[in-house]
Amino acid sequence: MSEFSLRTQLVAAGLAERKLDAFLVAFSPNLQYLSGFTGSNGNLIVTAESCTLFTDPRYTIQAQAETHCRVKIVKGPLVKGVNSAIRKVGVKRIGYEPARMTCDVFEAIKSDLPMRASLMPIGGWIEELRMVKSPAEIDAIRRSVNTNSQAFEYAIARIKPGISEQDLAAELEYRMRRFGASKPSFDTIVAAGERSALPHAHPTAARIQAGLVVIDMGAIQDSYCSDMTRMLFAGVPDAKAKRAYQAVLEAQLAAIDAVRPGVKVAKVDAAARDVLKGYELDKAFVHSTGHGLGLEIHEPPRIGKKDKTKLQAGMAITIEPGVYLEGFGGIRIEDTVLVTDTGCEILTPTPKDLRLI
Ligand code: ZN
Ligand code: ZN
Repeated sequence: MSEFSLRTQLVAAGLAERKLDAFLVAFSPNLQYLSGFTGSNGNLIVTAESCTLFTDPRYTIQAQAETHCRVKIVKGPLVKGVNSAIRKVGVKRIGYEPARMTCDVFEAIKSDLPMRASLMPIGGWIEELRMVKSPAEIDAIRRSVNTNSQAFEYAIARIKPGISEQDLAAELEYRMRRFGASKPSFDTIVAAGERSALPHAHPTAARIQAGLVVIDMGAIQDSYCSDMTRMLFAGVPDAKAKRAYQAVLEAQLAAIDAVRPGVKVAKVDAAARDVLKGYELDKAFVHSTGHGLGLEIHEPPRIGKKDKTKLQAGMAITIEPGVYLEGFGGIRIEDTVLVTDTGCEILTPTPKDLRLI
């Protein structure tokens, strides 16, 4: 039995305890996770007995090839097909994903429901299933991570100070594709000098001169994401840059050291923060320590103070503490890490030294 039919069966088996007759999925990553369908327009209805994928005529051939679910091709808005199936099958309580559906679609389905049928909000169910990756998913993440690192190595070995942030970002993304990625998992960040203090900077036409350069990049390969941040230094780093780099590196290693099954993610976050506190740099660490990744670049759990999740073997997460000093620059170091039965495995093969260019 395929991985996808196991997943839809798991959802079918979980309907009763949620007092549902059917579950409706319209959010692409959840839909792909359950059905295997990679098209951009689809709705999936899972009942105790069946799963049905609704999509439009552009995907007739693709849907048949990708999914084990019954495929219904709908001309016009998919909700028409969804509503007629709801009427035909006679399901009464239909679960939907409130954070993942537009108000338009919700209203369209609701306004056409048969008598005594209702929509029940069920949030985070599929996202929770997605947190623990299967061996096939882990293999895909590994391939994505390796391609991403290969692209970084290739590009960095061939650049010199004077290249613009935009050109370096373009080069990294091009190499990623040449090495096997379908696309970047987010817009590549290249930020030099004082701009490196912006955690989510967009590359500009500015040329990389002296100072820190942050590169945050990820690939999508076989639908799965990778994520890595590395630092370059153009010229010779001064004592302040060296000290801050050492602090972030120690924080990152301490957080990785805390990753093992059964540990609360808040503890991993605290491990990074404690190290930075020792350097009096904790206030310059303005985001959480990491996030889950898989079909999406940001998935649960969030490796932060407030998340209650306990790590489990098979979770893929990032560990990425950083410090951001206005007028000076920022430093972040990020790996993709797999939680294993005994601890964790750092999937990212790229060395973590501050690279001089
Ligand atoms: Zn990143
Ligand atoms: Zn990240």
